[in-house]
Amino acid sequence: MELLEKLTILSDAAKYDAACTSSGVRRGYREGYVGNTSSSVAGCCHTFSADGRCVTLLKVLLTNRCVYDCKYCINRRSNDTKRAAFTPEELAELTIGFYRRNYIEGLFLSSGVLRSPDYTTELMIRALRILRETYRFNGYIHAKAIPGTSPELVERLGFLADRLSVNIELPSETGLKLLAPDKTKGAILAPMKQIQTRAVQGKEELAKYRHAPKFAPAGQSTQMIVGATQDSDLHILRLTQGLYDHYRLKRVFYSAYVPVVENTLLPSIDTKPPLLREHRLYQADWLLRFYGFRAEELLDEQTPDFNPLVDPKCSWALAHLDFFPVEINTADYETLLRVPGIGVVSAKRILVSRRAGHLQVEDLRKLGVVMKRAQYFLTCRGRMAEGLHFTPDSLLRNLVAAEQPALPGSEMEQLTLFGA
Ligand code: SF4
Repeated sequence: MELLEKLTILSDAAKYDAACTSSGVRRGYREGYVGNTSSSVAGCCHTFSADGRCVTLLKVLLTNRCVYDCKYCINRRSNDTKRAAFTPEELAELTIGFYRRNYIEGLFLSSGVLRSPDYTTELMIRALRILRETYRFNGYIHAKAIPGTSPELVERLGFLADRLSVNIELPSETGLKLLAPDKTKGAILAPMKQIQTRAVQGKEELAKYRHAPKFAPAGQSTQMIVGATQDSDLHILRLTQGLYDHYRLKRVFYSAYVPVVENTLLPSIDTKPPLLREHRLYQADWLLRFYGFRAEELLDEQTPDFNPLVDPKCSWALAHLDFFPVEINTADYETLLRVPGIGVVSAKRILVSRRAGHLQVEDLRKLGVVMKRAQYFLTCRGRMAEGLHFTPDSLLRNLVAAEQPALPGSEMEQLTLFGA
């Protein structure tokens, strides 16, 4: 098979993996090497695939052959699809060739399970070693650690890649048993724990020895499929919180399930991917990571899913009207972050600006506050925005109206779908 044909098959097969960003690590120019991982690298090619995902890296599978049979996956062994596999040499040569032509800034390498997780990981390691050692490639590499791979191989992979990820895929054990019977919760969490422990150890070694090799310096991430199972947003968010708390993940990615197969255990092939739900989970994830929210504050057993009409922070504010209004001139940073329309940057600007004198409502827009949301929840020296009249019911309507123009077309369509 021609290399180009392999590339077409294996890059297309990789598009369902959302856990792909190049952020989180800096490694400057090195004498005798090519590439670096700073965002200003000249060879960086930022582009978006048709479904809106960022594909700044060469995103490809080593092979789409797989001995596993995950029901939701196009590469499962029982699916009749065209198969291909790169040799490690081909993959390394392709990556460095693309890099030199300025097509890409790095590599995102995943794979189906060829023979066994160990066999596949050994091939991945070989490809990465050629890239790093023969071609002296110093750019960004994100590699998948396949559940079930032995710890020695995960360790070797971590010394070659900048970021590792172990995909959870399905948010519950029941979902795994039903749809991915070859995988277990234990086999997924074990490498995650290993990566976390090894990364901590690596940092300690670096503190002692300046030239100690770096283990996955950009940390680890994972991906969860949303909408393939009945798991609620609350369940997904609790799991996310646990992963951030206990495994120190850098990112959890959510991937709206794209039906690629007709199976009674899965949503019908005509079902649209739940993009709006994915969007709400990303917004909530942001609240967990940067705004000090906890999963159980945003959702509970009575309301286990996000309101599709307003973002999670507005939903929280509407359910906690007794917390408001917040006085801009005296509230602390954490309280400011709870106000819809105030973000991390604008909260910091407010803290700095008010040192010079009391802030008025008119000043807030200049500080980056999104007043169409924030105005209902704050006061400046005890005053709300001029001429503002609302009731709890009209407040919801106003917030929905404030949000709608920000939603992309496909999400607007889905909004109608959810409303129905
Ligand atoms: S192990 Fe990965 S590639 Fe193989 S069927 Fe499952 S999800 Fe697909």
